[in-house]
Amino acid sequence: MPQGQPPGPAGSAQAPDAPIDGLRWTHRFAGLGERFHTRLPSTPLPDPHWVAISDSAAAALGWPADWWRHQQSLAAFSGGTPWRGMQPLASVYSGHQFGVWAGQLGDGRAILLGEVDTPSGPMEIQLKGSGLTPYSRMGDGRAVLRSSIREFLCSEAMFHLGIPTTRALAISGSALPVRRETVETAAVVTRLSPSFIRFGHFEHFCHHDQHAELRQLADFVIRHHYPECLDAPQPYVALLEAVTRRTARLLADWQAVGFAHGVMNTDNMSILGLTIDYGPFGFLDAFDPGFICNHSDTQGRYAYARQPNVALWNLHALAQALLPLVGEGEEASDLLLEALEPYRTEFPAALEARMRAKLGLATEQPADRELIDGLLKLMAADRVDFTIAFRRLADFGSAAGADNAAVRDLFLDRAGFDAWAGRYQARLQAEDSLDAERAVRMKRVNPKFVLRNHLAEVAIRQAGQGDFSEVQRLLKVLERPYDEQPEHSADAGFPPDWAQHIEVSCSS
Ligand code: AMP
Ligand code: MG
Repeated sequence: MPQGQPPGPAGSAQAPDAPIDGLRWTHRFAGLGERFHTRLPSTPLPDPHWVAISDSAAAALGWPADWWRHQQSLAAFSGGTPWRGMQPLASVYSGHQFGVWAGQLGDGRAILLGEVDTPSGPMEIQLKGSGLTPYSRMGDGRAVLRSSIREFLCSEAMFHLGIPTTRALAISGSALPVRRETVETAAVVTRLSPSFIRFGHFEHFCHHDQHAELRQLADFVIRHHYPECLDAPQPYVALLEAVTRRTARLLADWQAVGFAHGVMNTDNMSILGLTIDYGPFGFLDAFDPGFICNHSDTQGRYAYARQPNVALWNLHALAQALLPLVGEGEEASDLLLEALEPYRTEFPAALEARMRAKLGLATEQPADRELIDGLLKLMAADRVDFTIAFRRLADFGSAAGADNAAVRDLFLDRAGFDAWAGRYQARLQAEDSLDAERAVRMKRVNPKFVLRNHLAEVAIRQAGQGDFSEVQRLLKVLERPYDEQPEHSADAGFPPDWAQHIEVSCSS
């Protein structure tokens, strides 16, 4: 990728124009007022360069493909000189971390540049890793290249998998040293989201008894993101229920694709039900319900199979935060608790629907749950690769005696698999499933390509040597996760042995 020019000095008197015609800033979050944020400029990366660009994210913004080639683009998105119209700020929030009230947090290393109009509605543009803010606590305000590449690739990969997520537009990098376990270099990710509001924003104002601001925040979220709640008899209860349903569906998406977030603290829970704050996440290689992707999570609080319950725990924290808006006493808390109830039906129903689709079942049968669980149990016992098993299952033959060696060979317990396969065949025959047609359907929901740790690791190592081509190549592969892309089949293989030794922690 061509290197851009270094930015001009930060805070120069004359902000440069955006190199994009007709860019319109809306700044709705900024309009909430000073209790919600601190206005401050980002800190420039010294001598920055581009690391990666998502053309697909730029297209979603309606920006021309060459937007990043302009000198003022690298300057603005590496934390240097903002474009005219940007209003940089850091927002304040609080939250529960690992089940414990953590007090005030906030954008400790993120700067919201503002909100732009796009063909699909207003979109906030945020820098991550762009220097100290009043909410940095003990941190340095920076993000390392390693974690920035992981967030960039994974958020774009999730988007193309069809899973609700914030997106990433670009990464800029610099030789600036950043101390973690070792000394690494700094980078800035440009993230996009209709809103970066978290459960923790609500908890913040509730905790500080700032009920006017709490109401203002809830009204803001309802007006702009959940307008259907306005007509409900109790709009704040309706908001909680809507967030509950979205979160339930998000968790079903995560579980069905084998994604573990790693740090499901309430400050990392999007009020829009998006995947947000990619840190020590991981996709399952070998299927293991107890999979812990975050090396720092010694108790396994955020293990893969626990995620759905943690999300509900987090929704309880949100409910608690909304209580002052609904009233006092038992009646108010009962109303809010009721709004959480749909989680208990919506999540399993959504997960079952996704798992049924993963098995290519066109109809719903009472024994489907058992069929799904039976497969997962066998996979867990033999630590079968999650992504590969479901992808291979697409070509499963439903006729008795069909050659299903490709998937059967993944299991050590052949007798166990054969017994399950017999039930699956009977189930498929009962709904007159056509193998060829079903294979097409199944390949649309069972990805061939996910961002396994070792794939990210190779791209990160090369980027550390100054070669960013692997980041860009991998991005292109992950933009088409359901396509065969035979030329990239190596990216869809089993993880190499060394992948087991990759340790991903909170340090980023
Ligand atoms: P996380 O769990 O990574 O989403 O971060 C939790 C909190 O710590 C957030 O308020 C972050 O802004 C803050 N934080 C994480 N890393 C840093 C850092 N290097 N400098 C400043 N704040 C940070
Ligand atoms: Mg966070």
